[in-house]
Amino acid sequence: MRFSSFAGQKVFLFGLGSSGLATAKALADGGAELTVWDDNPKAAAAAKAAGLRAQDLRPADWGGVKALILSPGVPLTHPKPHWSAELAKAAGAEIIGDIELFFRQRRLEGMERDCPLIAITGTNGKSTTTALTAHLLRAAGRRAEMGGNIGKPVAELADFAPGQIYVLELSSYQIDLTPSLKPTVGILLNITPDHIDRHGSFAHYAAVKERLVAAAETAIISAEDAPCRVILGRLEAAGKKVVNISAAAAEREAETLINGNNALRGRHNRQNAGAAIAACRAVGAAGFERGFADFRGLPHRMEEAGVLDFRGAAIRFINDSKATNAESAAPALRSFKHIYWIAGGRPKAGGIDSLGKDLAHVEKAYLIGEAADDFARTLANEKFAAVKCGTLAAAMQQAVADAEADIAAGEIDAVEGAAILLSPACASFDQFNNFEERGAAFAALARQYCRKNS
Ligand code: ADP
Repeated sequence: MRFSSFAGQKVFLFGLGSSGLATAKALADGGAELTVWDDNPKAAAAAKAAGLRAQDLRPADWGGVKALILSPGVPLTHPKPHWSAELAKAAGAEIIGDIELFFRQRRLEGMERDCPLIAITGTNGKSTTTALTAHLLRAAGRRAEMGGNIGKPVAELADFAPGQIYVLELSSYQIDLTPSLKPTVGILLNITPDHIDRHGSFAHYAAVKERLVAAAETAIISAEDAPCRVILGRLEAAGKKVVNISAAAAEREAETLINGNNALRGRHNRQNAGAAIAACRAVGAAGFERGFADFRGLPHRMEEAGVLDFRGAAIRFINDSKATNAESAAPALRSFKHIYWIAGGRPKAGGIDSLGKDLAHVEKAYLIGEAADDFARTLANEKFAAVKCGTLAAAMQQAVADAEADIAAGEIDAVEGAAILLSPACASFDQFNNFEERGAAFAALARQYCRKNS
């Protein structure tokens, strides 16, 4: 993709991660007089190697700069504006992000009608809903390009062409940097307290998310939490086209369609599926329903890494490594019966104090990493035992042995089976490079257990 809305104009770009670099190339290809920078010398060197003009923007001449393109990872307002944002403001340059450039390009090329755009936000479930929506559209025979906060940066998506549908996951930071956001379909899944440090207040965080649905031709929203209920009411009062996916009929339909798909277990996925269904309808994609038969879900999010058959009962290995805090571990803990729960790593503030009511299906907990002592104290009064295991491998070994013993003792219903669940409620950095490596280690061990038994 080429971004030509700044052709012949002076533009600065700060933040050269993968999306920043792709955006810079698209701007340069589109003819902007571009200078880029990043505080990380490696990133700046990579930009230079890619043929871009990279130089420190602090001492640069900001005169005549039309825009500062900011990476969404760089603070725009909170906790305090980044120095590049301050300099841009002083120079009278607008501050925008890659999603804004994408919207302007779509408009410039006259593709707003021909290329429907589905934008998805919410505190939780964005990636699942985005991937599912793109998958269902493809199952309906439509060309769908997916990106934004998931997968490819927008600058790397296929060029606008009639009939192509764009499905974009947008974080609140990205929305903040997109003043002319105007999707064909806007999806708001839910709003719960998160990232307040970067938005100053919960009210501001909710207002940023509201903008995405308020600007959409069709707004899809769930009324399950109080902030979303208020927004839904406002949109309806303003006479907008609104689909409420928490209405009973919509929930029933989502439940029927996801029936039997292991990648969409749990009540929260009814919300994600309901939103994807409504989006497919809004763009007139007939036959999308068949996509539910083969949607595989996303890696490391309640992903089934293997199933071991033990005396007629299934022991499922569930990789939920992406759950790096208590709140995101809760859905998995609610989605299975007879859970052998592997938790721990580098703890987040608040630990797992909030999980009390979500632990009803836990048979035993296996604690790993730096959080083990802390979590053991938190769990001391639960009905199940919590043991400290140190490593993931040791935790799995004990968990599998316990599940097999419980099945052998007739304590587990064969139809319900058991789940060896890695949903750590912690960051991974004490023992792994990232949550993906932690999930891959779990999956590799799971495969070994499954192979041994087959
Ligand atoms: P995001 O992209 O918003 O982080 P994901 O689709 O990657 O969301 O899901 C991350 C985790 O959040 C999942 O593993 C699950 O635990 C939880 N989750 C997913 N969808 C929802 C939802 N609709 N409501 C609440 N929690 C959800």
